[in-house]
Amino acid sequence: LVSRKWRVKPTVIDLGDGVTIGEGSLALCAGPCSIESEAQMEKVMDHLLENGVRLMRGGVFKPRSSPYAFRGLGMDGLRLFHQLARARGIKIVTEVMQVSQVEEMHDYVDVFQVGARNTQNYNLLDALGGVDKPVLIKRGISGSIEELLSSAEYVFSGGNEKLILCERGIRTFETASRNTLDLNAVPILKEKTHLPVVVDPSHGIGLRDYVPAMALAAVLAGADGILYETHETPETAASDGQQTLNFAESSRLIRNLRRVYALR
Ligand code: PEP
Ligand code: MN
Repeated sequence: LVSRKWRVKPTVIDLGDGVTIGEGSLALCAGPCSIESEAQMEKVMDHLLENGVRLMRGGVFKPRSSPYAFRGLGMDGLRLFHQLARARGIKIVTEVMQVSQVEEMHDYVDVFQVGARNTQNYNLLDALGGVDKPVLIKRGISGSIEELLSSAEYVFSGGNEKLILCERGIRTFETASRNTLDLNAVPILKEKTHLPVVVDPSHGIGLRDYVPAMALAAVLAGADGILYETHETPETAASDGQQTLNFAESSRLIRNLRRVYALR
């Protein structure tokens, strides 16, 4: 069902209020790795609106490699995120980690994110197949392109056709970067599926200085959108500061992404 053989026309996800993800426009989604506070969110939202970006990412349930690391503000954080975003016409992309969270999060999110550690959590995918909100599925940490498509098939066959695929880097033998962003996946996925394909260069390379180059390359490779991490002061971010752009870097990247997209 997610194959081009079944549907030729590219799927465009309409989030309402003029915000879309899919062919015909470049979708930009930015925000902190973790939602931390009201003040933090307001600063990010001001930054996004100044740059004409209407999609904000930010985790309230965080899958951390260490159990001692900051694990997110949970539902209280999400309710506040929703309230601030609604008032500003901003749409929310945030990660759902387990089936029991789907219902409680439902009214507060615009796009459910399935994280790389949950790409093959088939119970979660089944649950998301039954909701009427878009789902962004990240590629598994060691997942193949085919496995990502199978995960999408779970949600799609469950009845939810509003899907976005995200390449976020895979684990390889390389240690010079956090992950290896597989830009090969972009043209391959674009040919294999009618679903929108976005790229997350922040997790893909994991090092702030290199994020803009990979983001621009992803657009030239054919990505329908870019999802990346930004924070007013990345050094103090509760998670993933090392791969997070400050607002000046983020503004510059947004300008360049639009320029490069116009060249396609
Ligand atoms: C995130 O988006 O902050 C995140 C945890 O991503 P991933 O699941 O790709 O590691
Ligand atoms: Mn992160």
